[in-house]
Amino acid sequence: METKEPKKGYDSLVAEYEYWAQREPGRAEEWKEKVRWALVRAQQYADRLGVDREKVLEGWEERRDYWYVNYYQEANQPDLSGREVVTLAEWEAEGERLYGKERLDWRFRCPACGHVQTPREFKAAGQSPHAAYLNCASRYGLGGRQDCKWTIGGLLKVGGRYVIDDRYCPRLIFEFADKEKKED
Ligand SMILES: [Zn+2]
Repeated sequence: METKEPKKGYDSLVAEYEYWAQREPGRAEEWKEKVRWALVRAQQYADRLGVDREKVLEGWEERRDYWYVNYYQEANQPDLSGREVVTLAEWEAEGERLYGKERLDWRFRCPACGHVQTPREFKAAGQSPHAAYLNCASRYGLGGRQDCKWTIGGLLKVGGRYVIDDRYCPRLIFEFADKEKKED
């Protein structure tokens, strides 16, 4: 028997809620609350990025590969209020204006100890170049304050900024060391 997949977005989210609510009616109210949470959070992202809520939901649902009740949560779709947010395209353009096209030479600042580091230094030391905007060089003995060991993957979501990717998923990363002043 063929089953028609609901469209990714609001439809797929609600369809999954309904599926589980039918199976376990006792928890339906709790699970409906999670749908509401996702809709409110998607609206926040939509307002912030100047797109329709459905666009955000489409992106989130396309990326989702596990149960929505666990997927929709502060760690995955963090509250953006009071945070600086840029799209991936804006961030890439800013990096190129500051440092040119060669990304290995882009400079990032550890939000905890202020150390400035480049992906090239990480790569030269056999580390992932991507770690240069996620982890302080001190974690690898590559500079910075020795006891810093800061990682963006830690529980404390402070410092750095959110870059929103093409599926409206935020990535918290270190600031550019020579970050531009905001124009507005
Ligand atoms: Zn550091």
